[in-house]
Amino acid sequence: MTQILDMIVGGQWGDEGKGKIAAEAAWRAQQLNDGKRTVVVRYQGGCNAGHTLYILIEGKLHKIVTHAAPMGIALNTDLGIGPDVAFDPVALVNEMGEHPDYSGRIMISERTGVLFGYHKLLDGWRETQRAGKIGTTGRGIGPFYVDAAMRSTHIPFAVYVSDAFPKKLEEVLQQKRMELEAAGVDVRELFRETMEEHEAVRERLASFCERLEYRLREYHENGDHIIIEGAQGAMLDRNMGTIPDVTSSQLLAPHAFATLGLRREDFTIYMVEKVYPTRVGNGPMPTYDAEFNAAVQPNAGEVGASTGRDRRCGYPDWLIVQRSAFLHDADAIIITRADNVQGLDLKAGVGYWIGGQLNDGMGGELIDEVPLDLGAVTGVFYKPDHFGWRLWEGPQDLSHPEAVDAELRDKRAAKVQGGFDALPDGLRTYLWRHDEFVGKPTMAVSIGPALNETVWRVDR
Ligand code: GDP
Repeated sequence: MTQILDMIVGGQWGDEGKGKIAAEAAWRAQQLNDGKRTVVVRYQGGCNAGHTLYILIEGKLHKIVTHAAPMGIALNTDLGIGPDVAFDPVALVNEMGEHPDYSGRIMISERTGVLFGYHKLLDGWRETQRAGKIGTTGRGIGPFYVDAAMRSTHIPFAVYVSDAFPKKLEEVLQQKRMELEAAGVDVRELFRETMEEHEAVRERLASFCERLEYRLREYHENGDHIIIEGAQGAMLDRNMGTIPDVTSSQLLAPHAFATLGLRREDFTIYMVEKVYPTRVGNGPMPTYDAEFNAAVQPNAGEVGASTGRDRRCGYPDWLIVQRSAFLHDADAIIITRADNVQGLDLKAGVGYWIGGQLNDGMGGELIDEVPLDLGAVTGVFYKPDHFGWRLWEGPQDLSHPEAVDAELRDKRAAKVQGGFDALPDGLRTYLWRHDEFVGKPTMAVSIGPALNETVWRVDR
């Protein structure tokens, strides 16, 4: 029985390229042509995550962005939405509409909570009421998880698609009345609008309500392929990330197994890591460097898929990656964006200086652990090496992948064909040091934005 059971998670502050890698995992499973189903499952977060994927169809690159749906939608796989997802049904129906030939089966846990327009509204309003901004994406995720913890204001999917919904919604809005009115909302009008907006959506999605944990066990017992797709990255985890500049969900890989009814030992956990970390929104990044950022950010098109905000780019930070890898219990690493740093002088963060500035004679100490407050540390880099590589000569403008010419695509294809051992020496040296430090093997290096522009260490 050949089963592909892969899990794809993020190792930094999100936007590592998980969408593309999850799609590749699904694609590989489909290529087995073994008559088995492939299902891609999400287990946390919501539309604050945005995955982007480029697929080459008849010589032309097509861009696919998903927020509510797992990336499997691009490959017409079966889809699963786990119980701890902040589920926006309107967004899912819109995304299904963008893929007119989509006929895959969708399973939404009966326990999955539904995110409504009022969550988004309160997200924006609460941010205006705060002295210190969190830099939320405004997608309602924070207020949604507050309701999940509150319980009485949480609406599970099974209730949403049932006749009990109007009464439940009314009760919930009553409980929220004071805050909604303070935000300038007419609660009666909101009730009417919400019912109206969701009428057709509820009807369309009702048949997808499932006891997901049982369905996934059936997939597993049947020898089907299951891909678990994470959103955001370990440094944004509600408990283990850079508090308070984190997301509201629990995103570490073990959380998926706690909520999907699947076993960790059945999966290979791949942690996706961008060569250089990026952050969108607030919060310190110890390896940030303005000059490096200027060299990478515009050329690499580092703009958030969900927010449209610029992402700040820092030098590689291996200390963070090392910690994320053990928190996720990752088996292996996939490095992305190796093409975006070609010709640059790279240095890798391997420690932090805490309590003063390095070499300023004012004290402080070198630490090799990631502390709660990253604002209190500065990056200390691997010496004496500077790393660098060039994958190909010629045009490098990668900021608009749709416009990338055929010549560049051919260069990428040649590198994929050449395989891991033919990667440039500078990159291989980097990986060797990286893997030694991080303690996990890098199994693949992504060198382009499109599906399968990835060089695997072994052909699995
Ligand atoms: P995700 O949320 O982790 O899926 O990441 P995003 O979708 O926000 O960002 C990933 C973007 O990077 C997408 O546009 C991908 O197509 C692109 N991408 C992923 N890997 C690579 C790579 O190796 N090179 C380049 N140039 N782009 C990549």
